[in-house]
Amino acid sequence: MNETNVAYCDLVQPQILGIHPYIPGKPVSELQRELGLTYISKLASNENPLGASPAVLTAIQHELKEIARYPDGSAYALKSALADFLSIRPEQLAIGNGSNELLELVARVFAGPGDEILYSQYAFVVYPISAQVVGATGVEVPAKDWGHDLPAMLAAITDKTKVIYLANPNNPTGTVFNRKEWEAFISQVPKTVIVVLDEAYVEYAQAQLNSDEYANGIDYLTSYSNLLVSRTFSKAYGLASLRVGYLAGCEEIISYINQVRAPFNVNNYAQIAAVSALEDQGFVEKVLLLNQQGMRQIQEALSILGIDSIPSAGNFLCIDLGEKAMEVNQGLLEEGVIVRPVSNYGLHCFLRVSIGTQVENQHFIDTLKSVLLSISKDL
Ligand SMILES: *Cc1c(COP(=O)(O)O)cnc(C)c1O
Repeated sequence: MNETNVAYCDLVQPQILGIHPYIPGKPVSELQRELGLTYISKLASNENPLGASPAVLTAIQHELKEIARYPDGSAYALKSALADFLSIRPEQLAIGNGSNELLELVARVFAGPGDEILYSQYAFVVYPISAQVVGATGVEVPAKDWGHDLPAMLAAITDKTKVIYLANPNNPTGTVFNRKEWEAFISQVPKTVIVVLDEAYVEYAQAQLNSDEYANGIDYLTSYSNLLVSRTFSKAYGLASLRVGYLAGCEEIISYINQVRAPFNVNNYAQIAAVSALEDQGFVEKVLLLNQQGMRQIQEALSILGIDSIPSAGNFLCIDLGEKAMEVNQGLLEEGVIVRPVSNYGLHCFLRVSIGTQVENQHFIDTLKSVLLSISKDL
């Protein structure tokens, strides 16, 4: 109890009390403190194993003397660079403190108590949280083969549906829906329902799939004014710590998003870094090549071990360890390998491992082998 004996929980908005907060991956420093390990591979948060482009670090260093100044609240330079890169107008872009902020702002603008927000089973946990924060009813549509069942999502639309969140590829499963499925879906969604297509892993998906297997959401903005595409600099561009992402859509909807965001939501260093990262597409190519090699390295090792995984178009893989998942997770942690349990998604038999460097992947594979061996000996 606090000093004033006020039960503050009675004062909190009721929808807030029910929120299960986002559980981040264990930070390296925490595991170091707990177990005194020195060599740790963090493969838990789909971060970029190559870090960021060296050009980004230089750009930030040059700007350090500006730290006392407020950032450009309109993110003029970043929006111009992105508009060029995507062949859209700057007015079609909202910049966010990570795409996470933008995903939540869409719910705030379009939904409230009594409204419904749709998302798939096993989809990114930020969607149900976004619905809860605004007091809307989150409607989870059962998945098909671990991925989005788009026809079932269409069928779940009611008069109350205001927003639909889709992740392509999805996190944590890595699943994608293909161009045909996507076009059949978006062409049938009522124009009064906002569709948010979360493309946090677009770069990885495009590198691993052809254009029939994977549709680029930006191509559909001119035909569908109710479509919003969200992307991030946290993954392929390696800027997770700076928090910067964007939302692309029709000018009117984007103007409402810009109306509700905080005036200086994206700091100066994030803006400068994002511009610089966008210019260094050579770095992104290296990242994508490393990811494909790493994906193959881990998949081959898993197939030798007879372990199944969900086919993934991202920079991570959900691997099926059956009833041993949590025990394997603990064993990996004790040997300095941090992966992500996904039982909060209802995926109790799986662990999600992010693709790292060749050395980190091998650390994971070798440790997994020895952990599995010691578990089977204990039986
Ligand atoms: C990582 C991720 C994001 C982006 O997060 P940021 O807030 O931009 O760092 C969005 N959607 C999905 C599905 C993700 O996995």
